[in-house]
Amino acid sequence: MTAKKGRVFSGARPTGRQHLGNYLGAIKNYVALQDEYECIYCIVDLHALTTLETTKSLKSNTYEMALDWLAAGLRPEETIIFIQSHVPEVTELHTILSMVVGLGKLTDLPTFKEKARQQPHNINYGLVGYPILMAADIALYKAGFVPVGIDQAPHLEFAREVVRSFNHRYATDVLIEPQMKSTEVPKVLGTDGVQKMSKSLDNHIELASTPEETIARVMTMVTDPQRKRRSDPGNPDVCNVFTMHKVFSTEEDVKEINIECRRAGIGCVDCKKRFAKNLNAHLAPFREKRAKLSENPDQVWNILADGAARAKRIAAQTMIEVRKAVGLP
Ligand code: SF4
Repeated sequence: MTAKKGRVFSGARPTGRQHLGNYLGAIKNYVALQDEYECIYCIVDLHALTTLETTKSLKSNTYEMALDWLAAGLRPEETIIFIQSHVPEVTELHTILSMVVGLGKLTDLPTFKEKARQQPHNINYGLVGYPILMAADIALYKAGFVPVGIDQAPHLEFAREVVRSFNHRYATDVLIEPQMKSTEVPKVLGTDGVQKMSKSLDNHIELASTPEETIARVMTMVTDPQRKRRSDPGNPDVCNVFTMHKVFSTEEDVKEINIECRRAGIGCVDCKKRFAKNLNAHLAPFREKRAKLSENPDQVWNILADGAARAKRIAAQTMIEVRKAVGLP
């Protein structure tokens, strides 16, 4: 086995069954990073509490997301996969870090302002402290790298600032300033062809759908809006179906559609059917593995428990160092 280049940490909120946007934007990269890095992937249920109206689906959403991660190729024998709240040290570090950041700085952050706008009836303290909890997540596991897309870079920069403030305040170097592992995060549009794919907009295609459900969903996809009739030539450059073909179809298919669409040699219905077929073929091994895993839910919970135990070993050591650096008696 070749030596790993360092430790990567990433967390995601438990959003249940994952869709193509989650897959292309995060999971695919999570899987690839395992080859070169020691990876820690966390389902951040505490973060989720800041916006959830009810926790009724929290457990099932956590389970479904873990199933998707595992079926997509996360390898729990080497990668730590766990639930944030199963390692409560993170809340202690969150509290300690919250003393080194000014309140004004937190309430000035665009993400806080946006959330406050979205849920004016529920501007809770957790929303204000969200970036500190995020910094605590990363620092607790001494992660050297965090995979982020360019639009997430300011969040990581803030976490780095928090770590710097802590180390400066207590004249220590026990916490590591994480580096950005710059990642190309494609903007995956939903079936409406306009907005980012998202469950809340119901414009998503789930990885775990049946082939029939996938076909039905794909057939609703919006294509080139200028192409009104089958006989009109289309423009694949503005069509989300074509964008998806480029990810999931063969080079020959992409080439052919690129030519045929422009001269009305292929209709959108046939084009979408072909995409659905290719997508289903691509997802078949994932779905098979997922079905097998779901026969034994205990196995999934055990993987998460094992991940938490391994994460806790790192966290406990970090907290010994942090308490000593702070001077807690
Ligand atoms: S033929 Fe395909 S690429 Fe062209 S507009 Fe229709 S769906 Fe889009």
